[in-house]
Amino acid sequence: MVSEIHCDSLWYGADIVTMRDGKYHLIQQGAMAVTEGKIVWIGPYRELPAINATREVVYQGGLITPGFIDCHTHLVFGGDRSAEFEQRLNGVSYAEIAAKGGGIVSTVNATRSTSEQLLLEQALFRLKPLLAEGVTCIEIKSGYGLDLESEMKMLRVARKLGELLPVTVKTTCLAAHALPPEFAGRPDDYIDFVCHTIIPQVAAEGLADAIDAFCEHLAFSPAQVERVFLAAQQVGLPVKLHAEQLSSLHGSTLAAHYHALSADHLEYATEADVEAMGEAGTVAVMLPGAYYLLRETQCPPIELFRQYKVPMALASDANPGTSPALSLRLMLNMACTLFRMTPEEALAGVTCHAARALGLHETQGTLETGKLANWVHWPLSRPAELAYWLGGQLPASVVFQGETRP
Ligand SMILES: [Zn+2]
Repeated sequence: MVSEIHCDSLWYGADIVTMRDGKYHLIQQGAMAVTEGKIVWIGPYRELPAINATREVVYQGGLITPGFIDCHTHLVFGGDRSAEFEQRLNGVSYAEIAAKGGGIVSTVNATRSTSEQLLLEQALFRLKPLLAEGVTCIEIKSGYGLDLESEMKMLRVARKLGELLPVTVKTTCLAAHALPPEFAGRPDDYIDFVCHTIIPQVAAEGLADAIDAFCEHLAFSPAQVERVFLAAQQVGLPVKLHAEQLSSLHGSTLAAHYHALSADHLEYATEADVEAMGEAGTVAVMLPGAYYLLRETQCPPIELFRQYKVPMALASDANPGTSPALSLRLMLNMACTLFRMTPEEALAGVTCHAARALGLHETQGTLETGKLANWVHWPLSRPAELAYWLGGQLPASVVFQGETRP
């Protein structure tokens, strides 16, 4: 008796980069069988067992990678800061721009005064190019509302994006992003408000999958961040942290202590920080877009991440101030060029390790039996090309949960 596998669909005709354990693990002339949106068999086509598929899709060559995961974005916001960008390049100083209500405050004001519907339309405009180049899962943070209603509005918009388009959206409450103007000079009072009002309310309404904060001299201290982490623990949500972007406060060690899913930026992380992250299994999220736009020169400690086996993820950090990035593939090139990550590490950063940074590594990020059938078919012959080409649109076709995305 030959046992036959029954499946919804069978896909073959291309090479498959599985990214299992963060490595290419290339299968030449691969095949995948899919049932109910999940991979039930994957391997070389010549080893395909007896199979009965309702539908067959044959690719004419090319390369398949796992769907891209953008694990750190601020995609929902009102207004944009292109006018400031231009002013600065015309010689207007940061101080002058800030004195006129520019910087993050301008985004907070614009986000508060923009309707939910308009925020949604503007975010859709930014999300579509990311999807076109293979994103199947994206994290979106709040953090430009900084009051209860506006933070919830941002998170509802993020959730709605995932209902409108074939993409998984994970939401993160970043109420502890900056000090709102009405709390000027009273950061501890604002942190009280975040811990006692915003986080419990956002959790009660199921609007956030994680809690994040910005640990920096111009934002919140480690002691304030720790109170945010305790509030997150109370409502049973995992934490993430913007840490060591501009200076060393050992926020990443604190994040590791609270078993954070990730610590992000990390240009100024020390060996002790990296060691703590390695022990806790906290992912290091690299954000070369912000590094580039700020003309930062301190590189994140890539060699230490390798040494302490800290998984490195890579994200767009799409935001109106420091990284107006609408291409995750461009970040692959920047991670290699600016940070000297290898093309394989960069690809793992937007697949396998990005999934871990969102707590989704059991279900996505690699192409393996039991994982979601989320992948991108590229007209390329080598995976390094994904990090090699600078810009340009690759006509990729994307499969989301077993169906080719329109
Ligand atoms: Zn960020």
